Amino acid sequence: MGITEKDLFPKPEWNYVFGLASYEDGVGVTSIYRFSNGYLSESNFNESLERLIKISSHEIGHMFGISHCLNANCVMNGTNSLPETDFHFARACSLCQQKLKSSLHYDHQKRLLDLKQFFEKQHFNSELSRADQDLNLLK
Ligand SMILES: [Zn+2]
Ligand SMILES: [Zn+2]
Repeated sequence: MGITEKDLFPKPEWNYVFGLASYEDGVGVTSIYRFSNGYLSESNFNESLERLIKISSHEIGHMFGISHCLNANCVMNGTNSLPETDFHFARACSLCQQKLKSSLHYDHQKRLLDLKQFFEKQHFNSELSRADQDLNLLK
């Protein structure tokens, strides 16, 4: 997974993209350019990071063979605009998480605890409350 500050255009005649991934090659790339309006500063850092996490998670999902999801609250539901990206959650729905877990075999509870710790540190409060909800479902 590559992350760049350059604006991404898959082909010169195409419009920009937030990110792109290849199922076949298992690679992806995301640009922070549009997330920070072209200039990353202390005041827009957290908002830009949250957008980068959402789009990167989406592209990484593609890298592991997961296609677009119809669930509006899933990170694998595509976005075409920043307001849409901001509205979306940073996490995959339970179905997409199951797909990812079946190919990666990770410890779901440990992952949620690690995410919770990260969201706490970054003060991503809405994501933090969702991680808490997910952890409560495991009890
Ligand atoms: Zn996509
Ligand atoms: Zn999903």
